[in-house]
Amino acid sequence: MLFGGAWSFSACYPKLIGRTDTTGKVPMNARAPKGTADMLPDVARVWEHMQRTAQTLFARYGYEPIYTPVFEHTEVFTRGIGEATDIVSKEMYTFEDKGGRSLTLRPEGTASIVRSALEHNLTSNGQFAKVYYAGPMFRYERPQKGRMRQFWQIGLEAIGMAEPSVDAEVIMVLMRYFEELGIPRANMRLLINSMGDQACRPAYRDKVAAFIREHGEELCEECNRRAETNPLRAFDCKNPACAAVMAEAPLLRDELCDACAAHYAAVKELLDDLGLAYEEDPSLVRGLDYYTRTVFEVQVDAGLGSQNAIGGGGRYDRLMEEYGGPATPGLGFALGFERTFLAMQAAGVGVLGHALAEVYVARVDDSVGAVAFAVAQELRDAGIAVELDHQGRSLKSQFKQADRLGARAVVVVGPDELAAGAVTLRNMVTKDETHVPLGEIAGRIRTLLG
Ligand SMILES: [Zn+2]
Ligand SMILES: [Zn+2]
Repeated sequence: MLFGGAWSFSACYPKLIGRTDTTGKVPMNARAPKGTADMLPDVARVWEHMQRTAQTLFARYGYEPIYTPVFEHTEVFTRGIGEATDIVSKEMYTFEDKGGRSLTLRPEGTASIVRSALEHNLTSNGQFAKVYYAGPMFRYERPQKGRMRQFWQIGLEAIGMAEPSVDAEVIMVLMRYFEELGIPRANMRLLINSMGDQACRPAYRDKVAAFIREHGEELCEECNRRAETNPLRAFDCKNPACAAVMAEAPLLRDELCDACAAHYAAVKELLDDLGLAYEEDPSLVRGLDYYTRTVFEVQVDAGLGSQNAIGGGGRYDRLMEEYGGPATPGLGFALGFERTFLAMQAAGVGVLGHALAEVYVARVDDSVGAVAFAVAQELRDAGIAVELDHQGRSLKSQFKQADRLGARAVVVVGPDELAAGAVTLRNMVTKDETHVPLGEIAGRIRTLLG
């Protein structure tokens, strides 16, 4: 079964597919808050499919699950992600709890994972940690297609290793993951860049700041401000005039120190050896301050408009030091559920759904209700997904229900057959009907289901 059939993504995720109306007439305070959406079963099933795919694939690369709190001390994000980033300055859900602590709903996953790795000494004495996570993140942004205020991410982190082969491995996992979900390689573009490190980036930042000041009149107000706070963010400005000016700005690629240049070259060579095509994008800086050296992003061309990045990440070799820990290299990626979903949809991906019931147990009348109930339980104990009528509906509507659930067989319990110690088994595919003795139902159904 493809998920195209019973597709009601639009009903519960209207913002995601670019609709602003909702179907039901409900009072304002009974609606999910702006920028959030209920994940109804047909969408939740896809999310769980994505998580299972991640679990299986990531395990092959040695990653284990980790869960951290959905909220953290605000400082975890202000220090980790950086005060001057859009996320921290504009988009965080920050609140004071009843004890007067400033807490923030996590806007991304990495800061929490690194905080946790430090708190629990996961990387002390030369150990490394390879972990993955999945869950909701929160950012106060203007909702649009593929962008929600509560959104869902899957990510992984490899902490404690500085070698370029780890970068190549992490990038490979991300690409393989999307492919495993059915997004063809040809639909994706892998962009990579190097952000340098503390040896070469400060000088480069100063160069970019000077460039911005030189071209101050051609750039927007915000970019002018960025010269003082976070000049590299000017590369991300959505203003076309700014983009045109910044295209002429000095590139970090040309200013990397020898160690960063060697690291970057080694990563590219490994990707070449793996046969993984990439494009170098010197303007790819990603929106967070903690990135050092390798950064990468996966974009798709179809289905997403301007929000075309479905996943990305990078190295953050100084992040643990920001929290007062020892110098510990690390890198990881995160991918968004909503955008990945849209990319899968655009690629025409079908995902195996599951029938809600393999077998339906119908009853002819109330006199056999208790037997029907017992038969259903016996089949469920035998590992078969079963639904039955609880409401005393007509046989005709029970068969309709069985069809709707995708049942491949219906067991009909009726007083006449029961008097002879049997039930009727109807194969919903061939429409064949046979009488089956009570003790043989589970065995016969297993044969029928194959
Ligand atoms: Zn600008
Ligand atoms: Zn460097």
